[in-house]
Amino acid sequence: MVAREYDLIVIGAGAVGENVADYATKGGLTAVIVEAELVGGECSYWACMPSKGLLRAGAAVRAARAVDGAKQAVTGDVDPAGAFARRTVLTHNWDDTSQADWLASVDIDLVRGHAHFTGERAVTVSTPEGDVELTARHAVTVSTGSDPLMPDIPGLAGIDPWTSRNATSATEAPGSLAILGGGVVGCEMATAYASFGTKVTMIVRGDTLLAGQEPFAREAVQASLEKAGVSIRMGVEVTKAHRTESNAVLDLSDGSRVVAAQVLVATGRTPRTHGLGLEAIGLTSGAWLEVDDTLRVKGYDWLYATGDVNHRALLTHQGKYQARAAGDVIAARAAGRHVDDAKWGRHVASADHEVVPQVTFTDPEVASVGLTADAAGKTGRSIRVIDYDLSWIAGASAHADDYEGRARAVIDEDRQVLLGVTFVGPDVAEMIQAATIAIVAEVPLSRLWHAVPAYPTVNEVWLRFLETYGREESA
Ligand SMILES: Cc1cc2nc3c(=O)[nH]c(=O)nc-3n(C[C@H](O)[C@H](O)[C@H](O)COP(=O)(O)OP(=O)(O)OC[C@H]3O[C@@H](n4cnc5c(N)ncnc54)[C@H](O)[C@@H]3O)c2cc1C
Repeated sequence: MVAREYDLIVIGAGAVGENVADYATKGGLTAVIVEAELVGGECSYWACMPSKGLLRAGAAVRAARAVDGAKQAVTGDVDPAGAFARRTVLTHNWDDTSQADWLASVDIDLVRGHAHFTGERAVTVSTPEGDVELTARHAVTVSTGSDPLMPDIPGLAGIDPWTSRNATSATEAPGSLAILGGGVVGCEMATAYASFGTKVTMIVRGDTLLAGQEPFAREAVQASLEKAGVSIRMGVEVTKAHRTESNAVLDLSDGSRVVAAQVLVATGRTPRTHGLGLEAIGLTSGAWLEVDDTLRVKGYDWLYATGDVNHRALLTHQGKYQARAAGDVIAARAAGRHVDDAKWGRHVASADHEVVPQVTFTDPEVASVGLTADAAGKTGRSIRVIDYDLSWIAGASAHADDYEGRARAVIDEDRQVLLGVTFVGPDVAEMIQAATIAIVAEVPLSRLWHAVPAYPTVNEVWLRFLETYGREESA
C-alpha cells in the first residue's frame, strides 16, 4: 500500500478533469489525477472526436456535390473504410500516451486505476500493483463523466446492443442499424451511418428529433435524414427485443416490428458515480452531483464536481469551462485569495444557465446558443423573434448552389440585447461563436450595427437580423 498527499485530487482524467488539475496547478497547488481507462476520456476516444471524424467524410462529399465545378470531381460515394481509418487517426488508435505525457509535462501526477472515496478528502485507488491511498489537503474534484443510459426494455440487454462507444469505435458499417433515440447522438450517428450506406431506422419515443432546439431546426434535420433514406418512427417505443441468427428484432408499442443487423441505444446519459464510494461521504451512489456556480458540491466545502457528472450541460466545452473556474477557485480558496463569484466572475460557471453553445453535426448543421424562442418566452421576458432565410444572403449563394438554411435571433425587447441565436444550414458551426460573444457580452443591438460582417459571407445574416428588427427600434 502506498500513501500520498496532494493539495488536490481529481477523479477522472477526461477533458474536464485534466483542465481542473491544470488550472489548479497553475494556481500554485499540487495535484494528482486518477484515471480508470484512458487519459482524455470519452470526448477523445468515444464521443466528440470519433463521431465528428465519422461525420466529416459525408459532410465533405456533400459540400463538394453542392458546388458546380466541384461536383464533377466527386466520382463515387463516401468510402466507409477511409472514414473509419481517419477516425482512428483522430483517436490516436485509442492510445493515450500523448495525453499522459502532457500531464507529466505540466507536473500533474497520474495514478491509473479505479478511485473510490473512503472518507472526507480521502480516496483509495485500486491499481494492479495494489491500493494507493490519496489524501487531499484542500479539495477533491469528481470529474467522472456519464455513461450511456440503457432503458429497461425486456430482452434489450440480451441482444448486446451498441452504445455510443460501439458506434464511434466500429470498424465497419452494419447493413442495417436501428437507433433508439432522436437526440444529438442518435441524429449524428444516423447521419454518419446513412452516409456509409447503412439502412438506418430511428425509433423515437417523442414527437420530434432534437427536442430543445428551435422547431425549424428539428424539421430541417428530420427532412434531410428522411431524404437520405433514414426511416424515422416517431411516437413509438420498443416493448421487447430479441435476436435471430442474423438480426435484432424490436417489437414496437404500435404493434409493428423493426428488424436490423445492429441496434444503437442513444436514449440519454446516466451519471458515472457508481462504485465511487459516495456513501462514505454521505452522498448517494449513482446520483448526479449537484453543485453551486463555483462547482462545489452543495453542502461540502472541500468537494467539487465538474463536467457531465454535475448534469449542468453535458458538453465538452462547457465542462472545460467549469473546469477552468473550478481549478482557479480551488487554488484561490486554498491560498485565501479573493473569490470572484459574482455573475460572470472568474470563479463561476455563469454561462451554464442560459448561454450554452452547441453544434449538432447533422446535415444541415444546427448551431445554437442561448434561449430558444419558446424557452425565452417562458422566462416571462418581453421578446421579439427575427427569422431570416440564409439562402437570401449573397455569401450563401457563393458558398453552395441551392444553399438552404435559416437563422433565428431571439431578442430581449426591454434590454435590446440578444437572448438566443440558432443557425441551420451547411457549415454554420463556425458561425456560432459570434452569437455567443454577443449574448455573453450583452452587446446592445445599437452597437451591433457597427460590427460589420465581411462580404460575401453567410455572417451577413447579422446585418439582416438588425435590418429586420429596425434601426430606429435598436437605437
Ligand atoms: C457520441 C457522443 C458525441 C459527443 N459529441 C460531442 C461534441 O461534438 N461536442 C461536445 O462538446 N460534446 C460532445 N459529447 C459530450 C462529451 O463527450 C461529454 O460532455 C464529455 O466527454 C464529458 O467530459 P467529462 O470529462 O465530464 O467526462 P469523461 O470524458 O467521461 O471523463 C471521465 C473520466 O473519468 C474516468 N473515471 C470514471 N470513474 C472513475 C473512477 N471511479 N476512478 C477513476 N477514473 C474514473 C473515466 O474513465 C473517464 O476517462 C458527445 C457525447 C457522445 C456520447
